[in-house]
Amino acid sequence: MNIILLGPPGAGKGTQAKILVDGRGMVQLSTGDMLRAAKSSGTDMGNKVAAVMEAGQLVTDEIVIGLIAEKLDGEASGGFIFDGFPRTLAQADALGALLVSKGASLDHVIEMQVDDQALVDRITSRSTCGSCGEGYNDISKPIPANGICSKCNGSDFQRRSDDNEDSLKNRLMAYYKETSPLIGYYYAKEVLTSVDGLADIDEVESSISSALG
Ligand code: ADP
Ligand code: ADP
Ligand code: ZN
Repeated sequence: MNIILLGPPGAGKGTQAKILVDGRGMVQLSTGDMLRAAKSSGTDMGNKVAAVMEAGQLVTDEIVIGLIAEKLDGEASGGFIFDGFPRTLAQADALGALLVSKGASLDHVIEMQVDDQALVDRITSRSTCGSCGEGYNDISKPIPANGICSKCNGSDFQRRSDDNEDSLKNRLMAYYKETSPLIGYYYAKEVLTSVDGLADIDEVESSISSALG
């Protein structure tokens, strides 16, 4: 089963993707994570996209489609979770064509609905374990009091440099302008389910689970 998690920055896509990876053996493909990895390893592409990401604008379709195409050559018996991709209609068309060329299907698109104020609150309180990638949140899922990651015992926590109000304003704008048309696109393809992303993490998990069957 291959699925897309669709939603604005901070909707909880990464959080739910990790739960699906652990629970169902799926493979998470996050273009945001791939781009941050390219940026921190200082590849030409990483250097090229750094300023665009910092400003909260979208990286070119060509770059992200290339990243996804590369990963789809790998095996994923539990299926792929596309997290933060596609973000434009051109990316959605390209993903459709890539899946067809591999004889694979797109089974579900889960739209996670969260209002803007909650997004701002979540993003300005988000942090991540630098060792294992586990997500934390100052309000809803604080780093344990002993300062040790509950998943990997790491103690190096990071905040994303684009998780600030200015960049977030651009990211939200990009979402409404370029990405939200995908809701209608996938509705028409009869693969869309919308879930209330404002609920607690485990309630969102169970809505997604019912949608996936
Ligand atoms: P996205 O990948 O969509 O940008 P994340 O999964 O990183 O979003 O979640 C953004 C922040 O909100 C993180 O700090 C995460 O711990 C927190 N979060 C995720 N889901 C929920 C939820 N259902 N309720 C409250 N906080 C949440
Ligand atoms: P968020 O957690 O805010 O949803 P991501 O981690 O998915 O953000 O993405 C971070 C940044 O990487 C985006 O603001 C954008 O600059 C770039 N990016 C990630 N995925 C894509 C994509 N599919 N198309 C274009 N740009 C992307
Ligand atoms: Zn960790």
